Amino acid sequence: MRAKEIVLISGKGGTGKTTVTSSFVWWMHNNNYNFVIADADVDAADMHLLLKPQIKRKEYFTGKSIAKINTESCISCDLCKQYCRFDAIDIIDGNYVVNPFRCDGCGLCKLVCPVDSAIDMIPQTVGEWYISDTNSGKMVHAKLYPGAENSGNLVTMVKHQAHLIADEANIPYIIVDGPPGIGCPVTSSLSGASYAVVVSEPTFSAIHDMERAVDTAFHFRVPVGLVLNKASLNDKNAQAIKEYAEKKGIPFLGSIPFSKCIVDALVNGKFALEGCPELTENFEKIFKKILEEVK
Ligand code: SF4
Ligand code: SF4
Repeated sequence: MRAKEIVLISGKGGTGKTTVTSSFVWWMHNNNYNFVIADADVDAADMHLLLKPQIKRKEYFTGKSIAKINTESCISCDLCKQYCRFDAIDIIDGNYVVNPFRCDGCGLCKLVCPVDSAIDMIPQTVGEWYISDTNSGKMVHAKLYPGAENSGNLVTMVKHQAHLIADEANIPYIIVDGPPGIGCPVTSSLSGASYAVVVSEPTFSAIHDMERAVDTAFHFRVPVGLVLNKASLNDKNAQAIKEYAEKKGIPFLGSIPFSKCIVDALVNGKFALEGCPELTENFEKIFKKILEEVK
């Protein structure tokens, strides 16, 4: 049976999504659940800081191709320069040269070029992905190089590898730490997911982004539940989030109060739940509800 894929997203960054995800992983491990961890926040992965993965496999990730002009074959007909919509072809010292920072990789220059061997489309390595061992189980994670695009495709690769591991070992759950926002990497992390957990906090910007994250999950027909982190920061906004969940018919999975203890735990390299046993009831209630929802 295909593993149930539980994706934690937030809309806004900084709501404590990874704090909740890592404590979920820690709690599941201590309660003898079997799972694969997928860190889909490929632009700014940080689960590894707590999970301290031992990398067992490393692969390069290839993104779009960039045009390259072979000056020896080029007959300087100027067609590529005239057709390039991205103004990516310069003439330097009489030679036609592609500016890799402007080239979009559309390939039109190669189509119009009258000389077969004058333009090559060169695939670009834009990141790396890894399969690692952690104390809590197998982890798939990745790194997108600075300025590189295609983070959605890299998220898809991370999830795909996590499913291959789960399929092979008959592992029932994949826990995905999703990226912030609602852009391409988030839609990739929601695609095919069994359940989305939106982690929010009681601030206006987080509520706004939470609503967009929920709408995105609805769009992909992924069932969704809400977690309220730092709940004690603003009672009125906390209440507004609970009312929103009720109005939308979304399960409110529970709340975690703002606590300096969590900050101290993370600073000391501990999972929030590990460092704050006084919050066990809050975390456990949320985690048990998530597992009930994905049954
Ligand atoms: S691949 Fe497209 S964007 Fe790049 S140089 Fe050729 S025409 Fe321009
Ligand atoms: S279209 Fe081909 S031959 Fe013409 S200038 Fe460009 S690279 Fe050279």
